[in-house]
Amino acid sequence: MKDNKDYEARKGVLEQIDLLKSELVKLTQELVRIPSVSGEEKEAQSFVYSKLKEIGFEVHSHAKISSRPNLVATLKLTSSKRNEISKNILYVAHIDNIPPGKRQDWRYDPYSGKLVDGRIFGRGVADMKAGLAAMMIAAKAILNSGKETIGTFSIASVVDEETGSDYGMKYLADNRLLQADASIFGEPAFPNVATALKGGLWLKIVTHGKRIGSGWPSEGVNAVIKMAKILCELERLDITSGTQEHPLLGRPTIAPGTTIHGGDAIHTIPDRCEATVEVYTVPGQNSKDVISKIRSMLNDLGKSDKDLDADVKILFETEPILTQTNERIYLDLQSSINTVFGAEAEPIGIPSLGDARFMKKLGIPTVIAYGPGERGKGHVVNESVSVETLTKVAKVYALTALRFWKQVPYT
Ligand SMILES: [Zn+2]
Repeated sequence: MKDNKDYEARKGVLEQIDLLKSELVKLTQELVRIPSVSGEEKEAQSFVYSKLKEIGFEVHSHAKISSRPNLVATLKLTSSKRNEISKNILYVAHIDNIPPGKRQDWRYDPYSGKLVDGRIFGRGVADMKAGLAAMMIAAKAILNSGKETIGTFSIASVVDEETGSDYGMKYLADNRLLQADASIFGEPAFPNVATALKGGLWLKIVTHGKRIGSGWPSEGVNAVIKMAKILCELERLDITSGTQEHPLLGRPTIAPGTTIHGGDAIHTIPDRCEATVEVYTVPGQNSKDVISKIRSMLNDLGKSDKDLDADVKILFETEPILTQTNERIYLDLQSSINTVFGAEAEPIGIPSLGDARFMKKLGIPTVIAYGPGERGKGHVVNESVSVETLTKVAKVYALTALRFWKQVPYT
């Protein structure tokens, strides 16, 4: 009997999403038509705010600075019966995106939201306005279906994901402004689900030299040349030792010299050079070990070159994170994907950082990425999303919420 009721509830919601398909397309297009490059998210967030209110969400705005608000919205679906457990599922989207680049490289205006051959085009559509629209329509479909459901559907629309998250997820996490029993990020990973995210280590290296006119180079110490030596050594440095290759994330990587600044005049030997190094780490690896390897390499270099004077500063450090595949949120998501697509999604790892890392700090189980945008199609010209996929992912979001609220045991 209970199973039958659950089946009816699911069926009702899926039918609602089919009915809401044109609204889902329109909402995605409207989101794309409001530019929201990182730092300029306010207008798009005002639009999202009014749409969430229109659906029936309670919406709170949390801003580190008023021009960059984050929205945290909750929709509580309660039953007449008391004492039922009520679970809160949180979907997370970032509203900001990277600039579109040159207009002439695009087939259509990057802010047109044009629908051609079943695909919606525009900057930010895959990464990740389509995901945000799918979350909103999933909630609306559950509400419209009118079936008895008990649970909370939350959506966070955040700023600053593309430029460091200080004003977005980091601010929300530091101030404990997010609450949920589990979360899913609607980042582009389709047809896969991302369950692993590399850790990151950003370093700044500074070399110190001795400034002198360039006519007497041997009497000075050229900080840029010293930096060149260091960067070449870093490129050769084995940071993998003792680390197993991770099945989804592969090996750790090091990219020395992602930026470099040194010297201020053509006729002067520079006395200072700065360079940045980006390291991606994998589970089982400690970033402290990577740093001590780099420091001991610098020590060794210093032994053979007494003029080499360098220091290392850690700018940013984050551990790798994994979605636990025995977590209920992951099982509920995969079951829902199976219902809608006929098969589960293959898990993948992502060699980059992402906002999902902040959920670990909050202790909220999370799926790192499952959204309608296709894997690797985020930061490209002619960014686009398939309407069919968009509709199906909205169904997956809705079904996952229903399953999560029911807490049906897996055997
Ligand atoms: Zn993204």
